[in-house]
Amino acid sequence: MTSRDTRILADFRAHCTNPECPLCAMVRHAEVRTLQVFCAEGAGDELRRADIRNARGLCVHHGAMLRDARDALAAAVTALDLMTNLLRDLDGLERAPRWPKPRINRPKKCPVCTEMTRYNLAVCAGVQAWCDDSQFQTALAHSHGICAPHLRLLASQAVLPPGFIAAQRTAWERVRADVAEYIRKRDDRFRHEPDAHEADAWRRAWFVISGSSFTVHE
Ligand SMILES: [Zn+2]
Ligand SMILES: [Zn+2]
Repeated sequence: MTSRDTRILADFRAHCTNPECPLCAMVRHAEVRTLQVFCAEGAGDELRRADIRNARGLCVHHGAMLRDARDALAAAVTALDLMTNLLRDLDGLERAPRWPKPRINRPKKCPVCTEMTRYNLAVCAGVQAWCDDSQFQTALAHSHGICAPHLRLLASQAVLPPGFIAAQRTAWERVRADVAEYIRKRDDRFRHEPDAHEADAWRRAWFVISGSSFTVHE
């Protein structure tokens, strides 16, 4: 059994007040840190530079995160190194004989994805250790729930206690009821009723359905 890490419980409870899945929020914070390590701090780390170079950059998801990052200089330094290597691939393609058909070698997996896969599994194991804790379950019941991809991942790793499932059900049923209420008020007969907490229900439902951060696909 995984030992209980009180920081995981504190983090989880803090993120339960957000409109998105608390695990997705935890993962996204770790993603931002990991990107910083690979770019800003990784500039002086030969091993990390090699990882990103062998991957010829980052996947579309992490590339988009880097484009939105604040550290433009770190992104530029990493991009310069990668553009040099992409141009070498192009040189190779140009110099290769016409037969067999010249190819560009498939790059290695995005290093941030590799790191986040590891983190997702670790944070799920950390959360599982608290699944039967009453403070944990109360926070979960008052949140909008763990997203479906993270729930599937948790369920694939261990048997989830009934108290956990009940708390998750409370959260999801509230989101579903809010979506139904949102739709009801779009009807002309009820349009005059003021929007309340259900105004953003459909967004919260999509946080539940798809998650909002990198997830390990089962
Ligand atoms: Zn999630
Ligand atoms: Zn990635």
